[in-house]
Amino acid sequence: MALLRTKMELRPLGNTGLRLSCVGFGASPLGNVFGPVSENDAISSVREAFRLGINFFDTSPYYGGTLSEKMLGKALKALEVPRNEYIVSTKCGRYTEGFDFSAERVTKSIDESLARLQLDYVDILQCHDIEFGSLDQIVNETIPALQKLKESGKIRFIGITGLPLEVFTYVLDRVPPGAVDVILSYCHYSINDSTLEDLLPYLKSKGVGVISASPLAMGLLTETGPPEWHPASPELKSACLAAAAYCKEKGKNISKLSMQYSLSNKDISSVLVGMNSVKQVEENAAAATELALFGNDQEALVEIEAILKSVKNQTWPSGIKQS
Ligand code: NAD
Repeated sequence: MALLRTKMELRPLGNTGLRLSCVGFGASPLGNVFGPVSENDAISSVREAFRLGINFFDTSPYYGGTLSEKMLGKALKALEVPRNEYIVSTKCGRYTEGFDFSAERVTKSIDESLARLQLDYVDILQCHDIEFGSLDQIVNETIPALQKLKESGKIRFIGITGLPLEVFTYVLDRVPPGAVDVILSYCHYSINDSTLEDLLPYLKSKGVGVISASPLAMGLLTETGPPEWHPASPELKSACLAAAAYCKEKGKNISKLSMQYSLSNKDISSVLVGMNSVKQVEENAAAATELALFGNDQEALVEIEAILKSVKNQTWPSGIKQS
């Protein structure tokens, strides 16, 4: 077992100078998004993650109606380590009440987030799910407002997040070079959908850092399956269920294989996985260690890819029609 003790890999994030742990801690589950999580479990999951070398924590005011930010804030404070030993990203523009990417709202939003997180600054502030706003407003109003926040020292770097990959090129083609430091894509670099891969050379050419979230496709690639609200089609859900059942029958774990698949591409700086227990933290950190030592389980991946072939790269609609 001592053999499995290797350091968590750190990867550079675009031109930011930040080095993110390849496994990132997605804190949406701390907002009870995937079911109830006790404060104790939240704090001990974050503690264990940090102990195992995870230095990157992502949240949003939207997750659990601000609960995720509050829980993450408490858990980070409980670590009692210097602030520069961990990297925090939160978001703006998406709230329980709805979307608002106006300069006024996002400027107020960061102060609210900092208070809930009990921090003086966040490393990355991201416009959350921009396909639900006007992309021209993001370019002309929101990002300039975030640049002022950068100058004030409340945030260090600026990011954008969303599901449809086209939103990233739309914005990045229209902002000045360096105005957007990071993109966060989700559900597009997993065994069932790897469409983010095609965008990686473009992002690299722009010097934009890449965070890929939801390696377990928001629960589709787990033994317990997705939550009620999951937007995938019945066809995609049942194919993933079949893949999970196949793995279980073979004594393999679909979540571990999925983590390893996502971690394999080093142009992705951090794979953000939602975690709500010490056990999940340990499993996901071990998946990274085992990958570094032994590589992917190619045989199992080929079998799973065959089961998922009919739904490969199938996604779901997200956002509003842009005028
Ligand atoms: P995910 O694919 O990471 O899946 C999370 C689910 O898998 C949770 O139910 C979790 O408890 C479970 N899980 C985690 N590790 C497991 C393991 N080893 N075995 C079995 N089950 C396991 O989806 P996610 O949480 O939606 O995404 C990760 C993070 O990325 C989020 O928490 C959030 O921080 C970020 N994210 C951001 C956006 C956005 O900005 N638009 C969208 C999606 C996700």
